[in-house]
Amino acid sequence: MKSRSEELFEQASRRMPGGVNSPVRAFGAVGGHPFFVKKAKGPWLYDEDGRRYLDYVCSWGPCILGHAFPAVIEAVQKACEDGLTFGAPTRKEGILAELICSCVPDVEMVRLVSSGTEAVMSAVRVARGFTGREKIIKFEGNYHGHSDGLLVKAGSGMMTQSVPDSAGVPAGYAASTLTAVYNDTRSVQRLMEQNRGEVAAVVVEPVVQGAGGMWFYHPEYLRNLRTLCDELGVLLIADEIATGFGRTGKMFACDFAGVTPDIMCVGKALTGGMMTLSAVAATRNVASVISGADAAHGGGVFMHGPTFMGNPLACAVACASLDELCASPWQEKVENIRQKLEAGLAPCRAVPGVTDVRVLGAIGVVEMDKGVDVEAWQDFFVYRGVWIRPFGRTVYVMPPFVVSDEELETLSQAMLAAVRSAAKPGGTPQRG
Ligand code: PLP
Repeated sequence: MKSRSEELFEQASRRMPGGVNSPVRAFGAVGGHPFFVKKAKGPWLYDEDGRRYLDYVCSWGPCILGHAFPAVIEAVQKACEDGLTFGAPTRKEGILAELICSCVPDVEMVRLVSSGTEAVMSAVRVARGFTGREKIIKFEGNYHGHSDGLLVKAGSGMMTQSVPDSAGVPAGYAASTLTAVYNDTRSVQRLMEQNRGEVAAVVVEPVVQGAGGMWFYHPEYLRNLRTLCDELGVLLIADEIATGFGRTGKMFACDFAGVTPDIMCVGKALTGGMMTLSAVAATRNVASVISGADAAHGGGVFMHGPTFMGNPLACAVACASLDELCASPWQEKVENIRQKLEAGLAPCRAVPGVTDVRVLGAIGVVEMDKGVDVEAWQDFFVYRGVWIRPFGRTVYVMPPFVVSDEELETLSQAMLAAVRSAAKPGGTPQRG
């Protein structure tokens, strides 16, 4: 007999590509169908078939407060009673802007937008407006959302030629996006020299390269980028959409390097992963472009903006979530999670085919070589009520900060069982 999730997946597949609204939710690589979530509370997800799972995916990181956090739900209920969107300013927008400025060092002006994609796209526009230059440098393997100009990877003529990364992206859009090699200062230097006076900004995922394989880099690299940018009047845009608000153990990944970017993009955990809201935060240097000559009309290069941002509901969620984060000893919680992940994932090192185990803050990564059936790992854990997802050749583990020691122990025990089951050539844990 078909499960309810299976039925829902079949139904969804008739109307939506892959039956989902985001490729990271698709099970194409894993096979089978995703479980459909009915509700969630704290670190637990409950599916349509009545099963529950400890959520170690957390919407790919941002659900730092887990699900249905009481203070956030209360804020949502209150906001709903007062009406949902007005197309006119509200008090909460100002409160949220102040809150963001109090969290992000040296930020003077903030613009609220709806998604991370939009935040980075807008940051690039600010940089172009400020410098009067067109080109930007991004890094191979860095992901900054799905706007056309940023869906670009290095082509075979790397460093000089930019190639669209997706069908539908015109080559002309890609032409002004130069691609450098991450963690290689010289590749950026070369690009800047070859395009002297033409580069507006370097866009970077600081310290943690997320969607490109969850790699952690030495903060010195970010300091080198800051120096290079300063020398040539290029702006540094830090994309902290995935790293912002504590996941790495620091409030922002830039804090590892003590570097202040000219523009920081934040999102995802800004609302505890519970609402679609992001922000472009500009430091003193570029704030003038946001406020600028057109400030009286709504703001310089931001003359165009999304209709629903920052709507009262999204702002209420962000304010409640940031209030909770800032009032809680989150660094201690993340440090406790880090230690438990270090210990819990360590046995994986013994599994044939596991090439690396790395932990930063509340992010754990198990990296496997091509011979390993990564999908079987997901299957093994889901069967045991622990929700993890493979990504490329890795399995990421990102618990919410509200997870208890007992729940972390559940992950460690499942990991041990997987390691025992996989301790033979091929490294494939068997669910039974
Ligand atoms: N920047 C980074 C570093 C991301 O990881 C993502 C999404 O995964 C984005 C930007 C795009 O954000 P959104 O999915 O909210 O558009």
